[in-house]
Amino acid sequence: MKLIILDRDGVINHDSDNFIKSPDEWVPIPGSLEAIARLNQAGYRVVVATNQSGVARGLFNIVTLNAIHQKLHQAARQVGADIGAIFFCPHAADDNCDCRKPKPGLLLEIAKRFDVSLKGVPTVGDSLRDLQAGFIVGCTPYLVRTGKGEKTLAKGGLPPGTTVHADLAAVVDHLLKTNAEVAAAA
Ligand SMILES: [Mg+2]
Ligand SMILES: [Zn+2]
Repeated sequence: MKLIILDRDGVINHDSDNFIKSPDEWVPIPGSLEAIARLNQAGYRVVVATNQSGVARGLFNIVTLNAIHQKLHQAARQVGADIGAIFFCPHAADDNCDCRKPKPGLLLEIAKRFDVSLKGVPTVGDSLRDLQAGFIVGCTPYLVRTGKGEKTLAKGGLPPGTTVHADLAAVVDHLLKTNAEVAAAA
């Protein structure tokens, strides 16, 4: 099974400094859901790992978060895309949990759930902490320039091996092209 792990805000949907607190505020980045559909067609299981500290801050509750994710799943289905699962950390930074990225807890849970190794699994994010969480457990980090991506790129300090792409659609172009080249060479 081929697995890919995506951050949510700033990768699949537009991010907001004021948090995505309702289904109405969840708006996909153009082309992101279609890119997920292409991943599915290429045999990838697409899983989301997302920090949602707005829950701990009391900005929205789990019921609302589930409603936001219902909207995500529905919008994905409309373009033939399938999000296999959404793993989220509801904690705040000072909760000291094991799942808030840059800690790798969410990713380890994903590996356990799907019984796969994380080695070389592409992980796509717009924040340094997404890439760090992936890097620690052997994933291959991809930075997108959408969301906080430009700021992340400007700050630097990206994990070794990180490649930078315009958006999720560009990551998928790159990934599928690379896979095709590997297949052709084999
Ligand atoms: Mg993000
Ligand atoms: Zn957590």
